[in-house]
Amino acid sequence: MGDRSKIEWTDATFNPIRARNKATGGVGHFCEHVSEGCRNCYAERLQKRFNNPIRYAAQDRKLVDIFLDETVLRQPLAWRKPRMIFVCSMTDLFGEWVPDEWIDRVCAVMALCPQHTFQVLTKRPERMREWYAREPQDLINAQAGTLMHWDDMPDAEWPLPNVWLGVSVEDQATADARIPLLLATPAAVRFVSYEPALGPVDFCHHAQPEGVVIDWLRGFDGGWPPIPGLDWVIVGGESGPGARPMHPKWARSARDQCAAAGVPFFFKQWGEWVASADARVGACDAYFWPAADDGTFPTEVSFLVGKKRAGRLLDGRTHDAMPAMTMVARGAAEATEKSRVSASPRDPSRRACGAPQDEESR
Ligand code: SF4
Repeated sequence: MGDRSKIEWTDATFNPIRARNKATGGVGHFCEHVSEGCRNCYAERLQKRFNNPIRYAAQDRKLVDIFLDETVLRQPLAWRKPRMIFVCSMTDLFGEWVPDEWIDRVCAVMALCPQHTFQVLTKRPERMREWYAREPQDLINAQAGTLMHWDDMPDAEWPLPNVWLGVSVEDQATADARIPLLLATPAAVRFVSYEPALGPVDFCHHAQPEGVVIDWLRGFDGGWPPIPGLDWVIVGGESGPGARPMHPKWARSARDQCAAAGVPFFFKQWGEWVASADARVGACDAYFWPAADDGTFPTEVSFLVGKKRAGRLLDGRTHDAMPAMTMVARGAAEATEKSRVSASPRDPSRRACGAPQDEESR
């Protein structure tokens, strides 16, 4: 688990589902590619660092023993300072190799840590929705009882107010497949990570068979059950070896759609490529976007300059908006924490994380 994270929209990562390589004994992680957005998966690339030289592919599942690491699982309980925690940044909590009971235990930790905000991001929202449809509150409570004494347990509301559920999408097809399932799942906050952006996404015009148009950003309350709107959209280009460029109009379109609907928008990064004439000098490569359908000359060129130089300015400014309700809640929790820490300057619960550093978004 990463006590600190370089990911722009979170503070820490939490990876209790791990994989021991049967040949090397190395302990890393496991996942399986599910769509084009997985092609250059960062988490997969990192596995060699954990002495776990596997592919994130179904054929390699037999090469590892997948387990729930109980030491890592309990670490958020020891973190008193409120954090935003990205859950399973190196795999997918709702992958089919994760038994329901482990999901129950991970959720029990989230229920027992109201001081933190947990961000759960999946490319498998069908399983997430099925898991929630079991109405798992009693199962979570039973697991919570094995992690904390009943007398110390906080009261839990449902859905958990400190858990954000999100889906990763990379283009319109994956957005069409995943966002409706997310919107049909109970959650305090629902978000989309549109990264790596590999094609345009229209969040606002989705005709249903009955002729109704659903807007994912604003929701729809003209039917039953009502469909909630999204609470947050993150956009980012791809980084790492083999990264594909993001057309600037995809990012601008998402930004403008969110602005029109009043939905917080977070521009995470350009990735390795940036569309800026200033970047031309020293760029390794250039990608000329095809001409528009109306035959106009392409005005956009992306330059391969590296993630650091590409930065995270969109049309000259950063976009760091987050769901407001949580910022308010975090502020209150941090104020409580400050008064607690000032009364007890040495916090024995703070200790170095023993797990290997696993980092970055996927
Ligand atoms: S960790 Fe994410 S990006 Fe990587 S293979 Fe799994 S679902 Fe795909």
